[in-house]
Amino acid sequence: MGKWKKKPEVLAPAGTLEKLKTAIHYGADAVYIGGNAYGLRSRAGNFTYEEMQEGVTFAKEHGAHVYVAANMVAHEGDLQGAGDFFRTIRDIGVRAVIVSDPALIEICLMEAPGLPIHLSTQSSATNYETLNFWKEEGLERVVLAREVSMDEIKEIRNHTDVEIEAFIHGAMCISYSGRCTLSNHMSARDANRGGCSQSCRWKYDLFEMGHNGMRQSFAVDETDEPFSMSAVDMSMIHHIPDFIENGVDSLKIEGRMKSIHYVSTVANVYREAVDAYCKDPANFTFQQSWEDELWKVAQRELSTGFYYGTPNEQQQLFGKRRKIPVYKFIGQVLDYNDASQIATIQQRNSFAIGDEVEFYGPGFTHVYQKITQMWNEDGQPIERAAHPMMKVRIQMDAPVKPFDMMRKAK
Ligand code: SF4
Repeated sequence: MGKWKKKPEVLAPAGTLEKLKTAIHYGADAVYIGGNAYGLRSRAGNFTYEEMQEGVTFAKEHGAHVYVAANMVAHEGDLQGAGDFFRTIRDIGVRAVIVSDPALIEICLMEAPGLPIHLSTQSSATNYETLNFWKEEGLERVVLAREVSMDEIKEIRNHTDVEIEAFIHGAMCISYSGRCTLSNHMSARDANRGGCSQSCRWKYDLFEMGHNGMRQSFAVDETDEPFSMSAVDMSMIHHIPDFIENGVDSLKIEGRMKSIHYVSTVANVYREAVDAYCKDPANFTFQQSWEDELWKVAQRELSTGFYYGTPNEQQQLFGKRRKIPVYKFIGQVLDYNDASQIATIQQRNSFAIGDEVEFYGPGFTHVYQKITQMWNEDGQPIERAAHPMMKVRIQMDAPVKPFDMMRKAK
């Protein structure tokens, strides 16, 4: 029997209301979203108060929580209206707000009592004294910096009882937890006020101006790829027991700007892995199908970040894509008729008769189907579902459920 005491929550990103509902449907215990102010993802489809209310109501109906990210680095003038913002989201029923700027924390504490505060990863918390400091200040949880090691998490847990949230999957920053002004310099967009243009991921020529004033170019590797500071992504699917045994309360998936295909797939996989371990820690065995599933939505190579040692340049950077997503999201099940075995699908990308497709659903269910018969909404047989969002009916060999996603290998 393992030593774990508490099942951690699976925390998923939700850039839109549709993603919020999808994430919860696919097993997330909680989601984090952005409001229209104070967040770090100005282009992530932030929520209006009305959408937030709908999301919170949906989450509560499904026993889940909604957190709101308000983790910008606030400049003069940015604080105006913050008290109203915090009071409004508290009254909507948001479970907690994720903040990094001490001024915003102070305003929240003073003006919106009763709204729990989580310290954002933007604050780069990497030791238990910092966590205890923020606990004394009245914070409920600290989101650790992505740069902590697993040994440090263990040490932190041994010295504090404040809730700990740690990243388990998604993009890494080449800078310290996003404390970066590269985007500000390259594209005049402030990374710490929600505008990061991901300048680190651009391709650069690398050269040095020699003593003689001559430009000397550098080929970075033998493939002569242009230089990029783009970091590989993190995936901790092989190490979920370490987080649980070290008392991490919340396992965070990065990616508020990612698709519902990504959110549903990643939440589904980690839900499955966490449940499997907590159900029977002694007999837990890693399932290769979990990793295979994550690769279907991966955009970069995957690594364990800083958790088991500082990665070297070869491990942390990639110059060209060696792995690309091989699956395309093509539809979502709206309805399934048991008697006729016909599924009604909303098209998201083109598919056709003869395609071999995969349906996946909550609980890590998978159904494979070759499309042999297909009809449009008027009941006319069709060869191809070509129009975005069109509704089509497909003859199935096995049942599927509403909300199941449909994808095919490219
Ligand atoms: S430019 Fe890159 S390193 Fe800097 S904040 Fe943006 S993603 Fe992070």
